[in-house]
Amino acid sequence: MNTKHVPVNLQWVKDNESLVPTPYHVYDEKGIRATAREMKRAFSWVPDTKGEAGGYRNFYAVKALPNPHIMKILAEEGMGFDCSSYTELELCSRIGIQGENIIFTSNNTAGYEYRKAKDMGVIINLDDISHIDFLEEEADGLPELICFRYNPGPLREGNAIIGKPEEAKYGFTRDQLFQGYKICQEKGVKRFGLHTMVASNELDPTYFIETARMLFDLVIEVKQKLGITIEFVNMGGGIGIPYRTDQSPVDLDFVSKGVQQLYSSMILKNGCDPLRIVMENGRVVTGPHGWLISKVQHKKNIYKQYVGLDATMANLMRPGMYNAYHHITVLGKEHNRESHVYDVTGSLCENNDKFAIDRQLPEIEVGDYLAIHDTGAHGHAMGFNYNGKLRSAEVLLTADGKAKVIRRAETLDDHFATLDFTEL
Ligand SMILES: *Cc1c(COP(=O)(O)O)cnc(C)c1O
Repeated sequence: MNTKHVPVNLQWVKDNESLVPTPYHVYDEKGIRATAREMKRAFSWVPDTKGEAGGYRNFYAVKALPNPHIMKILAEEGMGFDCSSYTELELCSRIGIQGENIIFTSNNTAGYEYRKAKDMGVIINLDDISHIDFLEEEADGLPELICFRYNPGPLREGNAIIGKPEEAKYGFTRDQLFQGYKICQEKGVKRFGLHTMVASNELDPTYFIETARMLFDLVIEVKQKLGITIEFVNMGGGIGIPYRTDQSPVDLDFVSKGVQQLYSSMILKNGCDPLRIVMENGRVVTGPHGWLISKVQHKKNIYKQYVGLDATMANLMRPGMYNAYHHITVLGKEHNRESHVYDVTGSLCENNDKFAIDRQLPEIEVGDYLAIHDTGAHGHAMGFNYNGKLRSAEVLLTADGKAKVIRRAETLDDHFATLDFTEL
């Protein structure tokens, strides 16, 4: 169980209407910092490269919320960044994040992206064995540190969102992994990492402990077979969040304890320490700390009752795309009886442009403000311009309760900027 709260109230939204009209995403700085600290604390036992505590790090998956103001907050809290494209690397670069503070976990990667990654000195995580030669050629030699992404295939069950590993396009097979380390060793690579990402939005904590077991097994086998000491394992992202009120957040202490036990019984026992443990979560870090604030512009009664918002699935694609549940609060009516059943819709010419279907809510009037919960990851970031909808603003609720616009809303000029009308 979890209780859904909104850190701003109706008055706050009205007070800020002239600064930032709806729709917009608002992110809670305090909440984001608290989660970042919680993760760090939970894994504080993890050794660094010298064997001292403090080696754990989450590399925030930039794609979840690629806003430099949020990234700056996360960097202050000690996080690194997981990038998968040239643009994401450039975004880090523009806020002064470089080198091994970044892991580049890409796939089907272009040569110019590898060149950029190598120029920035980031940790490069290869998705395929053929990319060893490709990287060497494109980036003028291999870096000193290299990481491989492992795909366990039929050895591991996936989960509903990411699918079965053997049907996923990512990573090396088990055999390729051993070949890959050997090839890189022969080519003079000095430092090695091992990565996997087999779950997405997973709420079962034992899943992550099993991922650690799988990676630790490989670390031991690579050492025994090839004499290579792997420096870090990256357990990927994928820690889920309780979108529904009857779900509970992942117990990080439970995960950490389970991983620590395996660290003792596997890594220490086989002399593979110190081994750093890192992750690259996005969703769990910022997801629960974002809300899409939107205003009701119409009500409609036909075969069902509809509430039409000034936001659309162009602002939040998850419900329309995979029927994802996002909790909804009617601001100012938090304690009213949920006496009505509505479909809550946007205005796209697409019938899946709905934030909720058959949702039990208090009676809603035109002009009410709704907060759609858990939009701090894969919310604004997945936005698009279909039907000519302009992308919304993003607002930071600062630690002192103020609204700070950290991305303005798009204008018509932005929208037309890539078109040339002069020769018509
Ligand atoms: C998307 C992704 C992540 C982050 O996933 P979350 O569900 O946001 O934690 C991490 N690593 C890789 C390779 C990804 O593709």
